[in-house]
Amino acid sequence: MRAAVYHRPGAPLSIEQVIDPRTTTGDLVIAVRRCGICGSDLHMADMHGPEAGMAPLPAGTVMGHEFAGEVVEVAADVQGFRVGDRVTAMPFIACGRCAACLTGNGYRCATACYSALGQERGGFAEYMRIGAAETLHLPDGVDDEAGALVEPFAVALHGVNAARLAPGERVLVMGGGPIGLACAAWARHFGARDVIVSDFVPARLALAEKLGATATIDAGKESVVGAYKRHAGQRPDVIFECVGVPGTQQLAMDYAPMGGRIVILGVCMAPDRIQPVKALTKELTVSYAYMYRRQEFELTIDLMNRERLDPTPMLSGTVGFAGFAAAFEGLKTDKTACKVLLDPRA
Ligand SMILES: [Zn+2]
Ligand SMILES: [Zn+2]
Repeated sequence: MRAAVYHRPGAPLSIEQVIDPRTTTGDLVIAVRRCGICGSDLHMADMHGPEAGMAPLPAGTVMGHEFAGEVVEVAADVQGFRVGDRVTAMPFIACGRCAACLTGNGYRCATACYSALGQERGGFAEYMRIGAAETLHLPDGVDDEAGALVEPFAVALHGVNAARLAPGERVLVMGGGPIGLACAAWARHFGARDVIVSDFVPARLALAEKLGATATIDAGKESVVGAYKRHAGQRPDVIFECVGVPGTQQLAMDYAPMGGRIVILGVCMAPDRIQPVKALTKELTVSYAYMYRRQEFELTIDLMNRERLDPTPMLSGTVGFAGFAAAFEGLKTDKTACKVLLDPRA
C-alpha cells in the first residue's frame, strides 16, 4: 500500500510503498477514507530529540491519528464489526482488560500501543490496523470528513470536562487552532455565557466566530485582559490554553481572576518557566488534559450525527498523496489554514 513515511526531522514525508497491515487478534483493518493533519504531527516531524525531553520519531514512522475509514478485514475473534462498516477509532490498541480499559480510559492502559508511533502505522496510508475495542461506528449523519474530526473534538471535550464548566460561566480560549476552535464550540454547547477566543491570526478569529465564539480578541493588537473585560465585563472564569509554546501558561495565570480555573491543552515540547507565586496568591486551579475517554468519542459522534455540533467550518482542504507532503510542509508556516485532510484515493 502507499503511505506517507517520516524519515528524519525537518525532511518532507515521502510517499512510499509499505507492507499492507493484517489483522491478528482483537483488531480490524480499515481502508482510510480521510485522515487529518494535526499540530502534534507537525511538532513530531520537526522534533530533534533530547532538547524536548522526548526521543525523536523512529525513521519509517507513518503518522496520522485523526481518521475515518471503512472496515476491510475483521480478526476472527472480533464481534460487532463487518467488512464495509464505516468507523473511526481512538488511535491506540490497549489490553481491554485492565481497570483503565474497562472504564473507558484505555489511553491510560499500561500496555497501550499507539497508532502512528513507531512500528504501529497511522492513517497517512491506504490501510491501517486498529483495535476493535477502540473502534466506533460512524452513523450516516457523520460523513468521512466529519469522522476524521471526531478525534480533535474529543480532545477538546476532554479539556472542557476537565474544567467542570458550569452554564453561564465566562470562557477565554487562548489559541484559535483546531483544538482551541473545538473548545470554543463545546463551551458554547455547554452554555458558557461568553466564549472569547484570542489569537494573532485574523483568519483564525473569523473561523472562531463560525464555531461558536461570542467575540474574539486579536492578541497582536490589543491587551487580552482589557479586551476581555470590555466584552464580558470581568475576567474569564475558565481559561483554555490551546497554544502550547513557552510563556503561554504564565500568560493564562496572568489573565485569570482570583480563584480562576485553567486547563492546559497546548502541547508545549520545550522547557517553560512559570512564576508559581502568581498562581498561589490567586489560588488558581490548573489542570492538564490529554487524550479522551471513549465516552467523549461517543458523545462527539452522536452530537455530530444529530447536527447539534457542526465541525465543517474547520475544514480547509483535502489532498491526495500527490499533494500531501507539500500540504504537510505548508502547514508548518501557514497559520491561516485550519484542518487539512488526506484522501488516500484522491
Ligand atoms: Zn491530533
Ligand atoms: Zn488495559
